[in-house]
Amino acid sequence: MQLIELREIRKTYYLGEVDLPVLNGITLSIGSGEFVALTGASGSGKSTLMNLLGCLDHPTSGEYWLDGREISHSSSNERAQLRNRMIGFVFQNFNLLPRTSALENVIMPLTYSHHEHTEHENRIWSTDLMERVGLGDRMDHQPSQLSGGQQQRVAIARALVNRPKLLLADEPTGNLDSKTSEEILLMLQGLNQTEGLTVLLVTHDPGIAAHARRVIRLHDGLLASDSVQVAVGSDGPPK
Ligand code: ADP
Ligand code: MG
Repeated sequence: MQLIELREIRKTYYLGEVDLPVLNGITLSIGSGEFVALTGASGSGKSTLMNLLGCLDHPTSGEYWLDGREISHSSSNERAQLRNRMIGFVFQNFNLLPRTSALENVIMPLTYSHHEHTEHENRIWSTDLMERVGLGDRMDHQPSQLSGGQQQRVAIARALVNRPKLLLADEPTGNLDSKTSEEILLMLQGLNQTEGLTVLLVTHDPGIAAHARRVIRLHDGLLASDSVQVAVGSDGPPK
């Protein structure tokens, strides 16, 4: 079964008198454990599609099957629950809470989700994630006391805290220098390979997209291409 199946997805924004069609019939599937880059020029609809995939918004028409359930008509409450249970987000601007320690930023989503773990267990699990992203010695630092790359690592740890199946990263390296970008991409590749995490990386930069095994390109709200690249060791068995 595919983790994601989209059928004829359309999204139109209504701005007063004007209709702005942004997605014009997208059909695609993404299997569990894939590492996919979603690329295309600025304004081609990447973030709109990511917001739909991340259950932050719903399509104007079409079907969205997530993990075997059709959710295009789900209520905002149901979508919030799906997000919590299934999806982690990483953004260009890190979106960390200021004046809050890195560790508390990572723990935060757990305090909003339904699970049977104690506060102590939450802390151990979040500490473990901080160590896995290489920030075991930065737990008590506030975002302003961390570099951009370190802040994005915290954001990745936070995105993983609810054990999502799907990680959506919208331009995650957009504010980072090239060396730090490379480190963040390697981290995402590692999570994909070792944990089987499904990763969808949104980027307008072909050099960044080249880190994914599969590259989907949008043009004017339509799929312009969908190709598997060889010689990128980002997912699946040896080729
Ligand atoms: P990308 O991420 O590929 O740059 P977006 O999905 O952000 O593209 O935007 C696609 C088009 O939709 C743009 O023309 C943008 O101005 C418009 N758009 C995006 N979000 C909204 C919104 N919430 N309301 C109205 N128009 C929007
Ligand atoms: Mg965008």
